[in-house]
Amino acid sequence: MGVDLHVHSTASDGSATPTRLVELAGEAGVGTLALTDHDTQEGWEEARRAAQATGLDLIPGVELSLEYEGGMHLLVLWLEPGPGPLQDRLEWLRLQRDERNTRILDNLRQHDLVVTAEDLMEEAGGGSVGRPHIAAVMVAKGYVPDISTAFDIWLARGRPGYSTRPRLAPAEAIGLARESGAVPILAHPHTLGINRAEDMARQLEELRGYGLIGLEAIYAAYHRHEREGYIDLARRFGLVPTGGSDYHGSYKPGIGLGVGYGDLEVPETVVDELAAHIG
Ligand code: AMP
Ligand code: ZN
Ligand code: FE
Ligand code: FE
Repeated sequence: MGVDLHVHSTASDGSATPTRLVELAGEAGVGTLALTDHDTQEGWEEARRAAQATGLDLIPGVELSLEYEGGMHLLVLWLEPGPGPLQDRLEWLRLQRDERNTRILDNLRQHDLVVTAEDLMEEAGGGSVGRPHIAAVMVAKGYVPDISTAFDIWLARGRPGYSTRPRLAPAEAIGLARESGAVPILAHPHTLGINRAEDMARQLEELRGYGLIGLEAIYAAYHRHEREGYIDLARRFGLVPTGGSDYHGSYKPGIGLGVGYGDLEVPETVVDELAAHIG
């Protein structure tokens, strides 16, 4: 059976409901699926109910953006929904996100691109609202041809619409994840923007020191040689090489749940290796 450990639902910036994700897993032959919405576990109950009728092994998770020069995202798997050390911080993160979104809309308005809070609410339908929702409204209004262009011109770090937000530091997030009994994984490591092998080595040593367990080596967007490189890197630093599609439905066109761009293959053994670290 297939494995996909990185997927977004309508609870954050995915276009498929939690119920639909479970259906898509069935269609793709995925037997193990992790729900990793940004900063929220709101999709969990619905996904769990949908998965009850199927044989799907569903893992509760989240994806967090961390305080770091480049882009550092952390996947936290087997995070038990409800109160807990990390769980209790999620609401604060969503508040920071909402305030950041308001600043982005203000920035865009300076450039005569009008996206209102109501437009954004309508697009996102509540939950954890993010830049892909803003991008989708910009596409709908004809300001940009597609979501990717909205990021490239307006929304990416350093572009005129961008605004940052307070995030958890890597040590804090990884520590809280472990205290919560969950399993922290460094997502899509290329976004760290580290080119030199020795710099990457230093960074991974540091994160492992905080309690990092896995490295997302088998990422949909990576070519075969990149995946092999990251698998070797993970093993060298005692990290479990994991994988996922980062499925977002229409917000990231071309990526299929469980299959990525068609060649995603995450071994089932990875799930057991990770599960051995559940606290
Ligand atoms: P936010 O969490 O609101 O900061 O938005 C981050 C999300 O935007 C990421 O998880 C991706 O889903 C998406 N994203 C980031 N960069 C791009 C890009 N260049 N093109 C398309 N989507 C992107
Ligand atoms: Zn996203
Ligand atoms: Fe990410
Ligand atoms: Fe993601």
